Amino acid sequence: MYDVAIIGAGIMGTSIARNLMRYNLKVIFADRENDVSSGTTKANSGIVHAGYGADADTLQGKFNARGNALYGDLCKELSVPFKRIGSLVLALRPEEVQTLGELKQNGEKLGVPGMKILNREEVLKLEPNVNPDIHGALYAPSAGIVEPWELAVACAENAIDNGAEMLLNYKVSQIKKIENGFELSNGSRTISAKLVINCAGVYADEVYRLITDTPEFKIHPRRGQYFLLDKTAHGFVNHILFPCPSKLGKGVLIVPTVDHNILLGPDSEDLDVNCKESTETTLKRLNFVREEVMKLCRNIPFRENITTFAGLRAEPFGEDFIVSESPQISGFFNVAGMKSPGLSSAPAIAEHVSAWVQDKLKPEPNAKFDPIRRPRIKFVELSSEERQALIRKDPRFGRVICRCETITEGEIVDAIHRNAGGRSLNAIKRRVRPGAGRCQGGFCGPRVLELLARELSCSPTDILQEGEGSNILIGKTKEEA
Ligand SMILES: Cc1cc2nc3c(=O)[nH]c(=O)nc-3n(C[C@H](O)[C@H](O)[C@H](O)COP(=O)(O)OP(=O)(O)OC[C@H]3O[C@@H](n4cnc5c(N)ncnc54)[C@H](O)[C@@H]3O)c2cc1C
Repeated sequence: MYDVAIIGAGIMGTSIARNLMRYNLKVIFADRENDVSSGTTKANSGIVHAGYGADADTLQGKFNARGNALYGDLCKELSVPFKRIGSLVLALRPEEVQTLGELKQNGEKLGVPGMKILNREEVLKLEPNVNPDIHGALYAPSAGIVEPWELAVACAENAIDNGAEMLLNYKVSQIKKIENGFELSNGSRTISAKLVINCAGVYADEVYRLITDTPEFKIHPRRGQYFLLDKTAHGFVNHILFPCPSKLGKGVLIVPTVDHNILLGPDSEDLDVNCKESTETTLKRLNFVREEVMKLCRNIPFRENITTFAGLRAEPFGEDFIVSESPQISGFFNVAGMKSPGLSSAPAIAEHVSAWVQDKLKPEPNAKFDPIRRPRIKFVELSSEERQALIRKDPRFGRVICRCETITEGEIVDAIHRNAGGRSLNAIKRRVRPGAGRCQGGFCGPRVLELLARELSCSPTDILQEGEGSNILIGKTKEEA
């Protein structure tokens, strides 16, 4: 029997799994998909919010401020790029200057460091492409950017390095209360665990319904769509730019990414509860995004757009996160309704859930816990001498597979064979970025496919783009004589 079973391997499930390995616990984390980070965690703005946005007496307020403070050390330990580039909330109308003051006051209550109200000239000095008609901005230097999927992959890898078990392609479809815990099943394999943590994202309400007929919450998706600009747009803005927030959320943003792209979006569109896979983009909503970002900046280089995508926020029909043990079922913990700032809050939520597990099971600390993840080699960032030395040691680093991002065979092979390694084209893209550049995998995709088939000793027809049924090749056009 496991001590803890975690359902869902997004940023919540993987952060919690990693944090629990600080104790002598038998932990398993399961996901219905074939990779970690296949839900909302793979499609969001990647912002570690400073934490002035939510009221001090909400879980969002509490976890965001604490989460932000934990990010620096966490990303250092896991070798995940994280940059505190700072954010600016722009007052586009004179009356919004008052909102800036209110946000600042709220942030100060929550301990957000270093915030300042800037006047128009100060903002334009920092960001010359900002709309010159603005009336000022709230500057928050502690806001940062991160690659959310890489962080989830790193948490999963480090959790496994420290003894956790990962189970992919495992859709929990039954949950039964047993005498000293729970039994989970996907219809063919049963897992028993003393405690269960539900981190199933937009499906968290459905997972909860497997164990109670009277769940206290329900979740619907709120879709957000984006444009992604190529690295050639790097430097267009150097801070995260927000409009003043509204009832619908933080508004449509302009965000530099850690990989030097620029993100434009997201909008906010409530979808029916049954649309939990609706991640398609639409012309109408993308046009809306375009209009909104043009209010923040002029001369946006839209021609550098390389793709569009959408993510689904898990909206709980209430304002706040749901981070608590079920009031009906002792030992069953819900981490649900994790809309923004869920990514920013994840390290703090992991701490909170670990304290609950500690209280329940009283585990000893794990003296062997190693928080450090082996850094991955980034060939593109090496000096010419370092590159030559590396290639002499391992010639696979001398073969560039992705020319847009300069990713070598050596990096891809490493991404396949690490704990929580990638098994599909998109899983490799999330780990080392072949296919994330201007050609979007048009050139490197077939070569990554060959490497996956070779390294996993399977047929190229078995290799998937992403989830089940997304096979890229379906057979041979010419059989050998
Ligand atoms: C458009 C958008 C922008 C955002 N921007 C930001 C931002 O800039 N900063 C920020 O802090 N937050 C942001 N967020 C919020 C943030 O992305 C989420 O809070 C976070 O990713 C949620 O992580 P999760 O692990 O709860 O969910 P997910 O990543 O969705 O993970 C849930 C996992 O559960 C699995 N699962 C579901 N059902 C089952 C089952 N029955 N059995 C097994 N597994 C199952 C799924 O496959 C999935 O992998 C944004 C969200 C969106 C949509």
